Amino acid sequence: MPSFINEIEIARVLELTRNPDPKRVTDVLNKAKEMKGLNMEDVAVLTYINDPMQLFELFETANHVKENIYGKRLVIFAPLYISNLCENECTYCAFRAKNKALVRRSLTQTEIKREAEILVKQGHKRILLVAGESYPKNDFNYVIDSIASVYDAKVGNGEIRRVNVNVAPLEIEQFKLLKDAKIGTYQLFQETYHHETYHQVHTGGRKKDYDYRVTALHRAMEAGISDVGIGVLFGLADHRFELLALMQHIRELETVFGCGPHTVSVPRLEPATGSDIASHPPFAVSDLDFRKIVAILRLAVPYTGIIMSTREAAQMRRETFALGVSQISAGSRTNPGGYTDSLHDDDGSQFCLGDHRSLDEVIRDVAEMGYIPSFCTGCYRLGRTGQDFMDRAKPGDIKNHCGPNAISTFMEYLMDYASYETRLIGEDLIEDVINSMEGVARERAILLLEKVKKGQHDMYC
Ligand code: SAM
Ligand code: SF4
Repeated sequence: MPSFINEIEIARVLELTRNPDPKRVTDVLNKAKEMKGLNMEDVAVLTYINDPMQLFELFETANHVKENIYGKRLVIFAPLYISNLCENECTYCAFRAKNKALVRRSLTQTEIKREAEILVKQGHKRILLVAGESYPKNDFNYVIDSIASVYDAKVGNGEIRRVNVNVAPLEIEQFKLLKDAKIGTYQLFQETYHHETYHQVHTGGRKKDYDYRVTALHRAMEAGISDVGIGVLFGLADHRFELLALMQHIRELETVFGCGPHTVSVPRLEPATGSDIASHPPFAVSDLDFRKIVAILRLAVPYTGIIMSTREAAQMRRETFALGVSQISAGSRTNPGGYTDSLHDDDGSQFCLGDHRSLDEVIRDVAEMGYIPSFCTGCYRLGRTGQDFMDRAKPGDIKNHCGPNAISTFMEYLMDYASYETRLIGEDLIEDVINSMEGVARERAILLLEKVKKGQHDMYC
């Protein structure tokens, strides 16, 4: 077992912190307000909050930290599923090898490019490329070629500017190929950090090997990929255990590489074709606990992005924006070819979606709530990644980039892709936000906005 996931330590901390007195909770929340993050014990204390007043304070503190660091920005992306072939047996997933109920499909490069073009035409600039853990002809180059196909898709003034990737754990040499293919973030979820549960739910294929998976982000970082994404599939094991294990994993990456993960994802188990456990999660996370998880993570790792996918329904997504979520997917399909064949049923999907709205509808909703949808890809393209990003983010410098970039990319979206109604709402919001900005951020935002309004594209600082 890699020593950094220490179940005995987790059990000890959970025992020690059980039923914390109110002063302890207040102390942790005060510490969280300093925005320097929390340790395992602090996190455990917060997971035990039940009192409505303390819950309110937890949510308020999370909102305070979120607004301070991220302002009203929400980064937007779409997943692009290239293949549902898989050699593993994850009991919760429709893609698992023995599931005969699934229509199998791996897209050709032409089809991948077409899918990307459809996303470009909707206004997307960032995608998350996703695949099951097996490739046509068992050739990993399929993934590398697919990334190139996505970057190759150009329609009018639009293109995909950042491809993040969620594919099987790799060897260092393969990670180097991913880096050379110019990916943004490499994302991989441990699913559950609980060893016994891990072995119960992964019954076949390479994914059975817990250690190989839990060390994958180390190999990615060793290969030079500085932005990695971490996550847990909530519902498989006790969420308190998972949160503390996640903290151990983060601490390990910080210790070894001087920088923790760029993002953390919080998928909850959703029903999936041919999976019993997906419909009856053994440790189902209630909506309240789910909101707590988001808020606690925001306080524990203030500078790590939190991703909310369309697994969740619109209302839950909305509620989590105030608690710490900084990136959301929109208009998603989880079956290969799902954007091209959007009118057909989704026999090849990975799990059931909770939010079926189009990108335009999501953008309008988000803007009506006062959040600025951001399509920015500036940091990654200027090399502000990994530790460099964190070094700038912590003193607050990054705000002077992210704020203006969110506004310029949102305006680009409004001018090129939005419906009339969304554009009106969006332009009003931009005006309000600029009026509330100060100093360098305001100057930069006005400058970029002028350029976009004159028809220039891809403006960022
Ligand atoms: N095959 C790769 C893997 O397993 O890491 C990458 C892609 S997999 C399609 C992406 C993620 O989907 C998994 O890591 C898992 O957390 C999530 N997932 C699988 N089944 C799910 C379900 N029934 N509900 C919600 N998320 C699910
Ligand atoms: Fe395959 Fe990933 Fe689904 Fe497991 S979660 S069956 S590895 S696609």
